[in-house]
Amino acid sequence: MAEKSKFSSMLNCKCPRCKEGDVFIHSAWSKRYNEMNKNCPKCGLRYEYELGFFWGAMYIGYAISVAISVTLGVATYVLLDNPDTWVYLSIIIGAILLTSRLNFRYGRMVLLYLFAPKFESPSETLRREKELTK
Ligand SMILES: [Zn+2]
Repeated sequence: MAEKSKFSSMLNCKCPRCKEGDVFIHSAWSKRYNEMNKNCPKCGLRYEYELGFFWGAMYIGYAISVAISVTLGVATYVLLDNPDTWVYLSIIIGAILLTSRLNFRYGRMVLLYLFAPKFESPSETLRREKELTK
């Protein structure tokens, strides 16, 4: 079987170490879209490496939102020949609301994939889990 690429694993919200375990428990369109597994169901990697690890994902989500806004603003200007301000606002706010769940997820996935190489091995994860449950 061909090895899965990092990019496709990230898009499918898979574990950054084994690329098989799901990071999120439910689908992006579920009511509980934000619930994550604490550890990878396949290899045991602890996703929240330290307390507050995912705070950084907010900045990545913000950057994704800005990129969407700028792209849609330019596209609206070019395709609709500079319409009224309410058209820009409607399109951009609508798109941001529609993609907010994906922004949340991909902000976290980008953060996980950025720092995954620094994560510990499975045996270190087990040792750390034992220490935390003492
Ligand atoms: Zn894994």
